[in-house]
Amino acid sequence: MINIDPALIKQTRGFLDPDEGRRLYDVALDAGRMGPCLEIGSYCGKSTLYLGAACREQNTVLFAVDHHTGSEEQQPGEGYFDPATYDYRFNRIDTFPLFRQTLVRAGLMDTVVPIVAPSALAARFWGTPLGLVLIDGGHSDAAAYGDYSAWAGHIMPGGFLLIHDIFENPQEGGQAPYHIYRMALSSGLFAEFPRTKTLGVLRRRRPEEIPPREIQQA
Ligand code: MG
Repeated sequence: MINIDPALIKQTRGFLDPDEGRRLYDVALDAGRMGPCLEIGSYCGKSTLYLGAACREQNTVLFAVDHHTGSEEQQPGEGYFDPATYDYRFNRIDTFPLFRQTLVRAGLMDTVVPIVAPSALAARFWGTPLGLVLIDGGHSDAAAYGDYSAWAGHIMPGGFLLIHDIFENPQEGGQAPYHIYRMALSSGLFAEFPRTKTLGVLRRRRPEEIPPREIQQA
C-alpha cells in the first residue's frame, strides 16, 4: 500500500491523474531496487509524492529536478497560470516553497533531493546511473528533446524511462512528449510497456535483449 495521506495527494497542485500516480508508484517500486530515481518537472510535488513514497520504501533516493520558475504555459496570462505560485517580490513564478511544503508534509525530506536548476544544467556533470527517469518538464519540442537527450543515457540497463503527457492525437494535446517517446522506441534501446492514460512506460533493454539486427544498424 502506498504510504502517503490521500488528502495530501488531493491538496497538492499538479496535473497528474490518480491512476497515473499509482503507476508511477508501482514502477518506482521496481526501479528503486536497481538504483536511485530522477524526475524532471516536479512543480508542486504531486508526482514526487508517488515516486518518493516508493523510493522511501526501497531505501533509495529520488532526485527532483525543476528550475521552479514554471513552464511556458504556467506563466502569467497563460492557460495554466496559478496565482498561488507567483512571487510578487521578484515578479516571477516560484513553485519551490510549495514543493518543499509538500515534502515536509509527506515526510519525504530524507528521501527526496531537490535540484533547483534547469534540467540541462543539472545533467552537465551527472554520472550516477539511474533506475528510473520521469520526463514531465516543458512541453516545447526543444524542452522535451533536451530532457530526453540529457537523461535517457543515464538510465541503467533494466531501468525505466517514463514520459508524461503523451497524446497521439494532436487535437488532444501537444506532441513533443509523444515525439520523444517515439524517438526512444525507434532507437531500439527501449522496450514498450502498457501506458496508463497519458503516462508512457519504457524499459531500457539489457545488452542481451537488443535484437541483433538493431545492433548492426547502430
Ligand atoms: Mg505532465
